[in-house]
Parts: sequence; C-alpha cells; structure tokens
Amino acid sequence: MTVAGNWKMNKTPAESKFFAGELADEISHELLSQVNVVVCPSASCIDAVTEVLRGTGICTGAQNVFYEDFGAYTGETSGLMIKELGCSHAIIGHSERRQVFGETDEEVNKKLHYVLGIDLVPIVCVGETLEERESGKMEAVLEGQIREGLRGISREQLNRIIIAYEPIWAIGTGVVATPEQADEAMGFIRGLISELFGNGVAQECRILYGGSIKPGNFDELVSLENVDGGLVGGASLDKGFIELVKIAAKHSR
Ligand code: PEP
Repeated sequence: MTVAGNWKMNKTPAESKFFAGELADEISHELLSQVNVVVCPSASCIDAVTEVLRGTGICTGAQNVFYEDFGAYTGETSGLMIKELGCSHAIIGHSERRQVFGETDEEVNKKLHYVLGIDLVPIVCVGETLEERESGKMEAVLEGQIREGLRGISREQLNRIIIAYEPIWAIGTGVVATPEQADEAMGFIRGLISELFGNGVAQECRILYGGSIKPGNFDELVSLENVDGGLVGGASLDKGFIELVKIAAKHSR
C-alpha cells in the first residue's frame, strides 16, 4: 500500500517543516513497515521537509519536475535539483498541470523517461473529465494518456512506476468515485497495462486512487483489489492524513 499526500501550493516553508515534524512523530515505524508514505510539498518547501523527514522512512516527492538537468527554463525546477534535496518521488502529469498549465501527454512522457533515468519514483496521474465520462469516452481517454504517457517504457521500468487514477471530477470537489466507478476504471487501467507489458507486470503495478479521499471513504476504496493506495490532496494537509495511513495499513498486502 502507498499513501501519497499532494500538498499543492499550500503551507509556507515554516508550516511545512512543522507539519512534517508532526507526521514524523505520529507515523510509527510499524505503520511505515506496512505502508509506503510519501509527502509532496511545494518545491519551495522541499528542503525544509526533507531535512525533518531524513531517516524517518517517510519519503518526500516533488509535485512536478522539468525534464532537463539545467538550462534556460525560467521558473522550472529539474529532477536533479529536487533529488539533491532528498526527494525520492515525483508526481508527473497531475490534472492541474495538464489543465492549468497545458501539459501534454508528450511532455508527461519526456518527464517520465527523465525521472526514471535519475532514479526517482514517478507517480503518473491519469483521469477523465466529467464530460468525457458522461459521453462514454472514459476508457478512450485513459488509454490515450497511458499509451502516450508510457511510450517507450520497458517492463523493468514499469515496475518502478506508480500510476494514480484521478478522475478530474473528483479532485478537490468533495465528490469521491464510488467503489464501483473506481474499480471499473482501475481494472481497465490494469487490463491495459497487462496488454502493453504483460500480465505479471500488470499484477505487480501499483495503481493508486485519487480524488476527494477522506478518512470516511478511504477504507472502502482501499479494500478493492485493484486499489493499491491513494494520492491525497486536501486531506493530506492535516492530521487526518495519519488516519489515512492507518486505514491503508489495515489493508497492507
Ligand atoms: C489531488 O490533487 O491529487 C487530489 C486527489 O486532490 P483531493 O484529494 O483534494 O481531491
């Protein structure tokens, strides 16, 4: 089980440091032996957070990275830089990056190859809009994002990738996917991975659900066979996150 928190553009460096300290104090080693816990602060807070979390077993991830080490890319942060700060993970292709910043599947693919090349664990986000779902295009959208996003990835590399199914209509809306909806979409993703990379790798592939997860709805979601944990936005910003880690631990496998 993996529980990853996406703090988005929230918390100052001092607030991030304080909250990371609370997580370090309250997430026990026993829990961390059952659940892979990752927190993804804003780039400006990564240094403060990794300093507090170093040696605790809680991992730190970036919310985005650029696919070159250095260069004339004003405003960007390279994977190499966040790695030197102590990050082990990087979210790629979050729907807010795609929708607000116009990130394409092609860029997602470049970032994915780059991140794997420097030994960071990518968390690749895919998901459909409400309009796409309601017009019967959910599977086609997910298939396009996965085929394009994972283009040129080997079986061995797939083992190191985490996929997050995040239906856009469920992100930050309070509307969580029903277990049936999550299971259907995530079963489809696993089936597609099996078609592209083989059944063995597909069964091992970690697929997280994301979208309005809260302590009250997480248990049912993580009990689903196709759900290997959660990518959490709003509910990762307070101590409710620790509850989510405990819930995932009950389902560790
Ligand atoms: C997210 O941003 O990845 C997310 C899932 O947000 P929320 O949990 O707030 O819906």
